[in-house]
Amino acid sequence: MKCPNCSSKDIGKIGVNQYYCWGCYIEMTVSEGMINTHQVEEDGSLSSLDDLFDEQDRRFTM
Ligand SMILES: [Zn+2]
Repeated sequence: MKCPNCSSKDIGKIGVNQYYCWGCYIEMTVSEGMINTHQVEEDGSLSSLDDLFDEQDRRFTM
């Protein structure tokens, strides 16, 4: 898989269906074939970045 945000393939697995992009430092959660993207804010909370991407870009492909 590659990052829908920066197209980096430097993706680390951090949990079940959870990945982290070392290129742009966002978290990705894969569910039902779709990648949900989150940015970790300074206070540790997560904000969704899904609005930034087309549905096609978020489709999970190996
Ligand atoms: Zn990225």
